[in-house]
Amino acid sequence: MLNYTERLTWLMEDIVARVPALSFIDVADILIFARAGRSDAEGAFATCHCLTLPPSEPGYYFWRDRANGRVTRRSEWFVTKSPVVSIGSRPIKYMFSFALPRFCDQSLDRSRKEKFYQGEDPWISKLDTVVHELYHVDPELKGIRRIERGDGTYSAHCHGQRFFEEVAAMVHTYLNSQPDPALYDILRDDFAALEAKHGGIVGTAFRTFPSYPQRYIERLPEQPACEADVAGVLVEPLRTGQQPTSYTQDDLHVRQFLKSTSRRLVRKGQFKAA
Ligand SMILES: [Zn+2]
Repeated sequence: MLNYTERLTWLMEDIVARVPALSFIDVADILIFARAGRSDAEGAFATCHCLTLPPSEPGYYFWRDRANGRVTRRSEWFVTKSPVVSIGSRPIKYMFSFALPRFCDQSLDRSRKEKFYQGEDPWISKLDTVVHELYHVDPELKGIRRIERGDGTYSAHCHGQRFFEEVAAMVHTYLNSQPDPALYDILRDDFAALEAKHGGIVGTAFRTFPSYPQRYIERLPEQPACEADVAGVLVEPLRTGQQPTSYTQDDLHVRQFLKSTSRRLVRKGQFKAA
C-alpha cells in the first residue's frame, strides 16, 4: 500500500532543498499526518498547526447580564498552551495535516489559485497546497509566518493575495529545477487511481484519531483576584479537556484511508499469542 504521508514528507524534503525561499526549513521539525476528509464534503485540503506558539496571557470566560451589562458569572483564570509533540528526543515545531481522500481529489477548477496556473495540469493544485503549508512556517520557527505588505508593515492576514502569488512562484521554481518526477508523481493521480495502483492508501495518524494534538486550556494554579468580582460574581470551575498534552512517536499509528471511512492498520501477526 502507498504511505501517502511518508511520500509527502519526501516530497517536502526535496522542495526545501530546491526552493531557496524555503531552504531554512528542516522537514524533521515538521510532522505530517493524515486526517479524514471526504472528497464530496467542504473543508480544508491541508492545515498547518504550529506547536511553537507561547502560552497565551491569562484570561477567563465571562457572561454579562443582558439588561445592565454587568458581569454575572466568570470562569476561573486560565492560559492556553500548545501541546508538546516529540519524535525520539526531538520536539516537533509544526504539524501539517492532510485530509484524505479530499486532498488527493482536489483540482484547479474554479479554485482561487486557478489564475496562477493557466493551461497547466490540474494536479498542480496539490503541489500548490504542499508549498502553501511550507510557506506558513515562520523563518524564526515561532508561529505562523506573517506576510510583509508593500509598505514594510505586516498584514494580520496570512492568506493575502501576495501569499498566493509567492506560493505559485515557488511551485514554478521547484518544477523548473527539474526534480525527479518520482517524487511528485503521487500528486498526478486522484484517490481512486492511487488505490487501484497501490492496493490501498495509508498514512500516519494519531492514536487518538480523529482527535490530534491541539491548543488546550490550563487552569492557573494561583487564581488572582479579579476586578469584576466586586458584585458577587459567580466563579465557575473550569472544565478542561481530557486530551493528552504531550505526545511521542508511540502515540502515532498507521491508518488506512478509504473513500468515506478509515481504519487502523493491523499488522499481520499482531493477534498471535507469543
Ligand atoms: Zn494556509
